[in-house]
Amino acid sequence: MLGLFFPRLCLGCQQGLVPGEQHVCLHCLEGLHRPDLSSLTDNAVARKLWGRLPLNGAVCLWDFAAGSQVQRIIHQMKYNHHPKACRYLGRQLGRLCQSVSPGGAVPWDAVAFVPMHRRKYYQRGYNQAELLAQGVAETLGLPILQAVQKHLHTGSQTRLSRAARWRNVQAAFSLRPKAETLAGKRVLMVDDVLTTGATIEGAAKPLLQAGVHQIGIAVLASVV
Ligand SMILES: [Zn+2]
Repeated sequence: MLGLFFPRLCLGCQQGLVPGEQHVCLHCLEGLHRPDLSSLTDNAVARKLWGRLPLNGAVCLWDFAAGSQVQRIIHQMKYNHHPKACRYLGRQLGRLCQSVSPGGAVPWDAVAFVPMHRRKYYQRGYNQAELLAQGVAETLGLPILQAVQKHLHTGSQTRLSRAARWRNVQAAFSLRPKAETLAGKRVLMVDDVLTTGATIEGAAKPLLQAGVHQIGIAVLASVV
């Protein structure tokens, strides 16, 4: 009955969802452009981080372009209080990780996410990257790590140069005092949007210092 008064709309195209669809219609989920993922380690997203991380794979659901439906979906997810949509899209991202891994076996032991500074977390009420990671971990049957914290508030970085953004975020993340044992692990790091890769690189650094062997990346969208 509620659907009569509050029709469920796709976060992307705003069309009504049909039974079986959740948050994002199938047309948007499958039809919005995505990078070629025929290789886990040699694709447009992985190439952004070559030489910066011991990368063993990069997976991305959509290409990100300003003004696109992908941008609308991610904006809704982050700022319009859609925690369930975050987890749902995380499950879709997890399925994509499986489908592009050879034999369906992903090369990771655990899932981590780009943490948010406490101040921002209390403002928004949730960390979209953490909820995405929960969906990914649930689908892949992997544990989720809480090992990294963001101890510096970097604010909006959108107007900074690449060099300034890089400097800021490299110093912003650290290992939590009671982090899980990480030595030798292969960790899949999840975030919503990959721009230059500076944030994910900064968040992965404490993991690598704690002995993590390889890093994978799974993002909803990557700026082309
Ligand atoms: Zn749609």
